Amino acid sequence: MNKIGFGFLRLPLLDPKNDQTTDYEELNRMVDAFLASGQNYFDTAWTYMDGESENAIRKAVVERYPRESFRLADKLPGYLAKSEEDSERYFQESLARTGAGYFDVYLVHGVDSESYERSKKLRHFDFVRQLKAEGRVREIGFSFHDNADVLRQILEEQPGMDCVQLQINYLDWDSDSVQSRKCLEVAEEFGKKVIVMEPVKGGMLANLPEKAEAALRAANPSCSPAHWALRFVQQIPSVDVCLSGMSTLSQVQANLCDFAPLSEKETLALKKAAAIVRELTAIPCTGCSYCVSGCPQRVWIPKYFKLYNEYRVKPDDKWKVQPEYKKMTEGRGSAADCIGCGACESVCPQHLPIIEHLKQVSEALD
Ligand code: SF4
Ligand code: SF4
Repeated sequence: MNKIGFGFLRLPLLDPKNDQTTDYEELNRMVDAFLASGQNYFDTAWTYMDGESENAIRKAVVERYPRESFRLADKLPGYLAKSEEDSERYFQESLARTGAGYFDVYLVHGVDSESYERSKKLRHFDFVRQLKAEGRVREIGFSFHDNADVLRQILEEQPGMDCVQLQINYLDWDSDSVQSRKCLEVAEEFGKKVIVMEPVKGGMLANLPEKAEAALRAANPSCSPAHWALRFVQQIPSVDVCLSGMSTLSQVQANLCDFAPLSEKETLALKKAAAIVRELTAIPCTGCSYCVSGCPQRVWIPKYFKLYNEYRVKPDDKWKVQPEYKKMTEGRGSAADCIGCGACESVCPQHLPIIEHLKQVSEALD
């Protein structure tokens, strides 16, 4: 069993500080290994990596493989659109950047209760239905970041959606905010194909606190933390594709195996590990970087949150963490430079109180 899809969201970079420096030698090797294994689903978006993700799809996939040999999903950045005409403009730009000719799957991107109102006004769902009717895309749907009640409302009001992309992972399974399980149940009830994003929660579940990792090791010493997370999602029968944002060839190779369903003993161990992670993770940021480009102070929010989480797990390492933080802030705003404008919070799919969290970071590390 393997339903893995290749998310072009965290690509290998020549300069880790610059999203525009894709390492194409490594990326081409990753794409080759992925396709050679029989997998064929790629996922990108107009906004990923400041547009570089769509360019990378063209160079690493479209220009190197016959179009019918892979499936490509792209997304309409509805939350950025200002007029109805913008939808066609974004679609044309995505087609030009990827060179794909058509999309197998086209989703209204990042829908929550707030952006849904905007999408209704600007007729984004009508636009994707029209694209499908004209044969310019094959399947349509939306990627979703809100609770199960909002999902139900959208599916009731928007007929014709083939699929829905949901955040599903073992940490968010029963959470109050993400509601992975409840959202999945709604999607199943409406008979929609489910594409999973963030199965490893932005890498968080691949790098567990030692105590959580030990709980998993005790149940199965040979399975890596990332594989535990992927096995949890892949075993769900209604899941069609499980996206993984892979950054190295070794990650691709590791994800091309069979994912055996979890045994009862393993399921219990995973619950225990989840409780430990929840207790020890100060800021549940997935590192998606949606908040970065709109920040007037150029605060490197996900990087600071990641470092802060590490510091909270091992406070004695402050001597190591603080110089690293100082280096990260060179040429950028520090956590203390946040002016509280709220631009970041309005686009955060995890609905994190970013301004408050930055104050915590600043108190500890500035
Ligand atoms: S609230 Fe702070 S971190 Fe967020 S966008 Fe504004 S300045 Fe940047
Ligand atoms: S703060 Fe929110 S938007 Fe920013 S990287 Fe984290 S999860 Fe993504």
